[in-house]
Amino acid sequence: MPIKNAKRILLKLSGEVLMGEQEFGIDPAFVLELAQEVKQAKDEGWEICLVIGGGNIFRGMAGAAQGMDRAQADYMGMLATVMNALAMQSALEQLGVPTRVQSAVQMDTVCEPVIRRRAERHLEKGRIVIFAAGVGAPYFTTDSGAALRAAEMRCDALFKGTSVDGVYDSDPKKNAEAKRYDTVTYGKVLADNLKVMDASAVALCRDNNIPIVVFSIREKGNLARVLAGEGVQTIVQND
Ligand code: UDP
Repeated sequence: MPIKNAKRILLKLSGEVLMGEQEFGIDPAFVLELAQEVKQAKDEGWEICLVIGGGNIFRGMAGAAQGMDRAQADYMGMLATVMNALAMQSALEQLGVPTRVQSAVQMDTVCEPVIRRRAERHLEKGRIVIFAAGVGAPYFTTDSGAALRAAEMRCDALFKGTSVDGVYDSDPKKNAEAKRYDTVTYGKVLADNLKVMDASAVALCRDNNIPIVVFSIREKGNLARVLAGEGVQTIVQND
């Protein structure tokens, strides 16, 4: 089921998908494959805002679990998302796709700060805008950053490309009987604490009526399929 009249999307990719088959870090060949899928979507006419996580490099919670100050560890996580954004920018530009990176943590010599009007202009000019550093504050995740930018940029839907092919009633890696939803409401996701995105991100999408499409980006060609409303996915939306 395609999202009706959608033109502009926010595509959120988990950091871990940039690892390819590696256990850590960035696999440039795999990033290039992802960039090809993003290029194809752009060539089909979609306006694309991109947000990439940082979990392949650093997660604040993991740092905190090992005794680091949580806020400090989260700053490191935010910097990891900037590294991923730059890797994706580089891959997209190898394919001739103009992009701009805007970071919520200012680093003027590396990329632009987040300026909504400037981001709008980039999209008008056919560029892809990659938003880095989440919301720019600790105790958040890039999912919240993705929801925030989706609302701010008035995206028609938030597509979350991850390593699972949708939202399940229990963890499919632990429970062979787990069932995948085709559609599910924000309310059920929050009440049952289903693993989609963190609660603040889901609530922000609910309050702004932004459907969340969860799909696996690990399968080649899947982004094009889900954008066409085909393929395996879960749509989180209001009733
Ligand atoms: N982070 C943060 N604030 C934000 C976005 C990210 O503190 O607004 C930190 C946080 O430590 C998080 C890490 O950056 O764990 C990497 O982001 P995330 O875990 O969301 O990446 P993903 O799971 O999507 O790869």
